[in-house]
Amino acid sequence: MRRTPFKVVLINPYELGRQPFALAEPAAWLKREGFAVSCLDLSLQKLDPEILEDAGLVALYVGMHTATRIAVAALPRIKQLAPKAHLCFYGLYAPMNEALLRGLGVGTVLGGEVEPALVSVGERLRANGTATGTQMSQSEPVISLGRVAFEVPDRNGLPKLASYAHLVLPDGSTRVAGFAEGSRGCKHRCRHCPVVPVYQGKFRIVPADIVMQDIRQQVREGATHISFGDPDFFNGPTHGMRLARALHEAFPDVSFDVTIKVQHLIDHAGLLPELRRCGCLFITSAVEAVDDGILRHLDKNHSSRDFDRAVALTREAGIALAPTFVAFTPWTTLEGYIALLARLVELRLVESVPPVQLTIRLLVPAGSYLLQIPGFKEKLKAFDPGLLGYPWEHADARVDRLQQEITAWVTRSEQNGVARRDVFAGIWRMAHEAAGLAAPQLAGNLGSPIPRLSEPWYCCAEPTDQQLQSF
Ligand code: SF4
Repeated sequence: MRRTPFKVVLINPYELGRQPFALAEPAAWLKREGFAVSCLDLSLQKLDPEILEDAGLVALYVGMHTATRIAVAALPRIKQLAPKAHLCFYGLYAPMNEALLRGLGVGTVLGGEVEPALVSVGERLRANGTATGTQMSQSEPVISLGRVAFEVPDRNGLPKLASYAHLVLPDGSTRVAGFAEGSRGCKHRCRHCPVVPVYQGKFRIVPADIVMQDIRQQVREGATHISFGDPDFFNGPTHGMRLARALHEAFPDVSFDVTIKVQHLIDHAGLLPELRRCGCLFITSAVEAVDDGILRHLDKNHSSRDFDRAVALTREAGIALAPTFVAFTPWTTLEGYIALLARLVELRLVESVPPVQLTIRLLVPAGSYLLQIPGFKEKLKAFDPGLLGYPWEHADARVDRLQQEITAWVTRSEQNGVARRDVFAGIWRMAHEAAGLAAPQLAGNLGSPIPRLSEPWYCCAEPTDQQLQSF
């Protein structure tokens, strides 16, 4: 008699509306080893009792803060629906929150190049036969950075590509977007970045033929744009350009977007025109601040003026730049926040910045390299397990109040479909009011809309009540 295959359920709480590589890649590995794998994407699906009831292993992917908060909120219900399952959290935010997760009954915590460890956990559980997975302790390393032999991601068990975030062009037309990863990790060590405590300055390449096979299967599903999720597409510029050329050669009409840091945009400026010719529509860049002191605290390795240079270089190449920011930090003053807004006006980038970027508050998770700044930890409150971080209060209460008011304004505006420039005008007025200043008239060319994804990029925003209750 044939034995029922051991059942693994992979869950994605949220990943910016992307069809997650981080589920599709482990799914391919686990299926190859004979596991019955189901995927659930809580951004589009609900926890399904039928799928979960006989699961032996439930693994939740936590690649961002928002996803971790949702996963923790969903855990009691998952335990109820999958009472015999061994619980695993994997992804950047799992090792950082290891102690807290273990306290919640999570048996395995994995970060980095996780696929071999996920297979190993599944195999040990399968070999245990009737022993319930909840009793098995972890023998796999919490962080693995060894090179893995990537498989073509198995996207069959995920919701259809067309139901995920799509590309929105300035004329309002949309394209189905696919999501590929050409590398994981990063060779830089920006202090506030969640990649750093796990990858510690290393990055790992996904071979170009695997990436291309993944792109091919998504183009067959209707993708006419590919969003590369690499933390930095130019960590390995040769590899990045190989991918861009291969994509363009195979699918000349398919466009793409990438994330590249300011320093790399300047160092590899000569590659930008070809990146554009290959179909790159926009580049997301973690600028974070326009204040050199704050940039030094974050160890960003670029200056405020480098940002101007990156804007000029991408414009020259015909690629739109979508800068992202950590708008509120303990070092942000009201004048500094106004200076950030003024710089966006000066650089004609008002339409290029999703309003949520102007609300982001510095998150200090457990294990953050920010805690290495002398005297910084002393300024923080005790770790808050609900927040999954160390809360902080600004020395100037007006800054915290402004952040709350702007967050509420942006949330309300997005719910009501208010245009970016009108949301910005509200933020402009509120920031000046908070500083007791008259807001100058916003006049002149504020910039034009740029191509964007229908769900904006961010890594540490608070989950909405709807996200925390949607499963
Ligand atoms: S912020 Fe970007 S460049 Fe800096 S460590 Fe993170 S991924 Fe790398």
